[in-house]
Amino acid sequence: MSLKLDLHVHSKSRGKVYIGPDELKDSLQKNGLDGVAITNFFNISHAVWLKEKIKEYLIIVGQEIWTTDGHIIGLGLKERIEDYQTAEETISRIHQQGGIAVAPHPYLHLGVRKKVMTLPIDAIESYNAYLGPSIIYNYLAARSARKRNIPQISSTDTTNAMFVGRSYTEVMVKDSELVLESIRSGKVKLRKRALPLPVIFIFKNLLNFKNVEPCSVHTVPCILCGKSMTVRIFREKFQCLDCGKIEYSHVVCCRGHYLCLECVMKRELSISKEQSITLY
Ligand SMILES: [Zn+2]
Ligand SMILES: [Zn+2]
Ligand SMILES: [Zn+2]
Ligand SMILES: [Zn+2]
Repeated sequence: MSLKLDLHVHSKSRGKVYIGPDELKDSLQKNGLDGVAITNFFNISHAVWLKEKIKEYLIIVGQEIWTTDGHIIGLGLKERIEDYQTAEETISRIHQQGGIAVAPHPYLHLGVRKKVMTLPIDAIESYNAYLGPSIIYNYLAARSARKRNIPQISSTDTTNAMFVGRSYTEVMVKDSELVLESIRSGKVKLRKRALPLPVIFIFKNLLNFKNVEPCSVHTVPCILCGKSMTVRIFREKFQCLDCGKIEYSHVVCCRGHYLCLECVMKRELSISKEQSITLY
């Protein structure tokens, strides 16, 4: 048999629930999927809760971890993984729990970049639907996976129930208990489909409008104003509002706010510490 799984989905972020159990079940049914991996930042509690609530579908408990080298996803976790360690340390902790380690969107500025060629990961996310229009990032990720000859996954990275499963990984497996093992041995087929972008958004983005409207598919909020982050088609120079560093990036808030990776991470970590008391 085979299982169609979206292996990178965010159900909750910064205390806000984006995908609840009913919406998730609805969208899995509508999109013909067999399950998802819930990979929220900083915590696995919402993933564990969804897994308890939903018995009809396979819910894999995961976490997208901030490492000092970029994002790493752990799938099949029993406990939350500490953030802000090196990628190597993070991966070994994932493996200690019997989970598998995936490098998501390696060539985006939050990815592990060139380290994707050497880290002891089990798979590379070679198709991230969020990056659909920026084809080059997915192309580079797929090329790295082929060069290393390691398994690939395709997923959405969405926070919107409607789009869960637009891209997915079909895992060939005898028993759903063995799904992680099958991904590790590369018994997968990839379904690659970008998230639909509203035409007006693409237009404004191409013409480089200062304030690109919040994009309904990219609901990841800006850490400063809460409006959506957008992936620009062309790289531009931005100045970090916290430390003043000037650098090139594709990813910026729709209102133009920009923070460098280190400064985003500092803010994320302090928010997550505050929220762990009240919200998680
Ligand atoms: Zn990420
Ligand atoms: Zn993600
Ligand atoms: Zn903003
Ligand atoms: Zn900065």
